Amino acid sequence: MSLKKKMCNFRKSIVGFMALLIVLAGGTGTGYASIEPATRQTLVLQHATIVDVTSGKLTNDQTIIIQDNKISYIGNSKQTAVPDYAQVRDASGQFVIPGLWDMHVHLENNYKNAFPLFLANGVTGVREMGAALKNIDVWKTSIQAGMPAPRLVYAGSTLNGGPADDAPHMLYLKTEEEAREAVRLNVAKGADHIKVYSWLPRPLFLAVMDEAQKYGLPVEVRASEAIQLGFKSIEHLHGLFIATSSIEDDIFKNADMSDLAGYSLAEIEASKSYDPVKANKLFRKFKEKGVWPVPTLVTYLNMAKTEIDPRSKYVPTDVQKQWAEVIRAMSPEQAELLAAINSTTPGMVTKLNDAGVPMLAGTDSSYEMNNFIYGVSLHDELELLVKSGLTPLQALQTATLNPAKYLEREQDLGTVEKGKLADLVLLDKNPLEDIRNTTSISAVVLDGKLMEKQTLDRAVKTYPVIKVSDLKDEPEVPGSSAK
Ligand SMILES: [Zn+2]
Repeated sequence: MSLKKKMCNFRKSIVGFMALLIVLAGGTGTGYASIEPATRQTLVLQHATIVDVTSGKLTNDQTIIIQDNKISYIGNSKQTAVPDYAQVRDASGQFVIPGLWDMHVHLENNYKNAFPLFLANGVTGVREMGAALKNIDVWKTSIQAGMPAPRLVYAGSTLNGGPADDAPHMLYLKTEEEAREAVRLNVAKGADHIKVYSWLPRPLFLAVMDEAQKYGLPVEVRASEAIQLGFKSIEHLHGLFIATSSIEDDIFKNADMSDLAGYSLAEIEASKSYDPVKANKLFRKFKEKGVWPVPTLVTYLNMAKTEIDPRSKYVPTDVQKQWAEVIRAMSPEQAELLAAINSTTPGMVTKLNDAGVPMLAGTDSSYEMNNFIYGVSLHDELELLVKSGLTPLQALQTATLNPAKYLEREQDLGTVEKGKLADLVLLDKNPLEDIRNTTSISAVVLDGKLMEKQTLDRAVKTYPVIKVSDLKDEPEVPGSSAK
């Protein structure tokens, strides 16, 4: 493989996480894929300890009655009669939390791998952040045909400017009319929000805003301005170090942010001139206006790994080979850049959390980038959030309560309460004691349907895990190059 191609693969592998900034969610579209099992019954979970993800309170020996897809009753097991026609699941000694959401994923055409992995890992909802429009129809058709899948909200294709790459999940726009048409295409596919990339030129960005009354953020727009424009989430904390720097103006004047590496370097440089007064003003605005940072700490760490993650046994071999190629092609400069990002970003999470800004858990999971494992990476992210200063309860909120608030679906989602949709995870261990206990999954309830962990695991395929050193030199293995 030529050096040029290796560089290209590396660049593609990071473009997905670095460039995009902002998403606005709106009320249009029908992004909630409906999951309708053929038959339903009354499901009863007995003797469960319910984790209140709002307060952190634990209530033990509870009976949860689920009728169709909703929680119809919760009460003490001693005082609750169980209908004799019900399916009863003993949850003694187990902790019940709301189903988890990964708020930043890319499904591409990997849904056959991704859906079972999400469910086996307790992920009952995902926010899809950019895909080829044709793939949306494929997911929808499979779900309608009965394939168990997490709830899905999606952006459609990402809107970008600049020279066209061959990224299948992007629409490269040149004119305002193209920008408007792109919004209409996404809306026609039922998109829940519009996502734009950092290199969408401002006039096209304004056309996008005008067309859909949804907003995006090009590089030229500052984080402070973004709030005024009505952004709803900021991905990867991108732009926040610049926005909280005492020399923001100088950075905008002097730094070359025309590409990814330049932008990242500007961010790292800006982190050295952090201005707490300016930051607090910005963070207060985040809270006032409901702007949700999505740190995706796991993204940068996965990409910095110099070996294939051993848990990649869930990832098809050709994808692992592609990852190994990217790892092998990584230059010392690229490794250094990733290390610098990884050493600065957690500090911003700590500052946001200290300022009381609620966040969303997201991973950027995709097979286009190294070492992402659908579902598994979300638990890594929760752990990283705790390492950055969140309590286990706060971390749990980023994947339950906060997504429900962000999606304006608190009436249906986010807590274990009567009247809400029955998306639940049964854990063997208390997640508030140690956030890593979110992996101690015993069963998942999706839309009222009980799925035991063993059943979920059986739906997940496994593959041998390869090593970077397993890669043979030229000629390269067919299909190993990045798309
Ligand atoms: Zn992404």
